[in-house]
Amino acid sequence: MSIAQTISQLLSEIKSYGATLIAVSKTHPAEAIQEALEAGQLDFGENKVQEMQDKKPLLSNKIHWHLIGHLQTNKVKYIAPYVHLIHSVDSLKLLEEINKEGKKNNRIIPCLLQVHIAQEETKFGADANDIRTWLGNRSLDAFEHVQIKGFMGMASFTTDEQKVRQEFKQLKQLFDECTKHYQSANTEWSSLCMGMSADYKIALEEGSTMIRVGSAIFGNRNYQI
Ligand SMILES: *Cc1c(COP(=O)(O)O)cnc(C)c1O
Repeated sequence: MSIAQTISQLLSEIKSYGATLIAVSKTHPAEAIQEALEAGQLDFGENKVQEMQDKKPLLSNKIHWHLIGHLQTNKVKYIAPYVHLIHSVDSLKLLEEINKEGKKNNRIIPCLLQVHIAQEETKFGADANDIRTWLGNRSLDAFEHVQIKGFMGMASFTTDEQKVRQEFKQLKQLFDECTKHYQSANTEWSSLCMGMSADYKIALEEGSTMIRVGSAIFGNRNYQI
């Protein structure tokens, strides 16, 4: 199937869930993004700042660039002027830097807090308990140039569907908890971003509002991140 065909199939599949598709274009060339763009896809995810920076000038300004990979504080300044959503906020230090760069650029930068839900040690993200602490002591309220739109999580890399489902359930529970009990000027709780090529169907069933799909659209990557 072509990139355009896969995208249209995915869009019809997620429609009833009201979810948004982020096409994860990491390691794929600007030409592949252009093809997806021509099929009407506007949201693209990259996991490296440098790669996003390299591709952006080659493509339409209409694209919404999502930073989905680990973000170092010293790289925030490069994407701050234009990034549509940062999915990988996992520390207050990083949030502080994003806030600073948001202020410099005279904008409010939309962010997701990345929550560590997988049992594997290797995945990035803050622990759900850290997040409860930040919210409990109102640590996030001071950041006027960020807007927290919700959470991003990655499930364990496993064929054990029950385990994956359980991890997604946990994140949905935290999301519901926050929606119910936590309000502030810079939080919105509109996005629960979970699900990739291998597990987006489970994620949607468990309440995902935004999926990040790479290989199912663009094919296999030559190197794994
Ligand atoms: C690469 C990546 C994806 C997409 O993975 P696929 O399995 O190719 O769909 C999603 N989220 C993050 C954070 C990624 O790094």
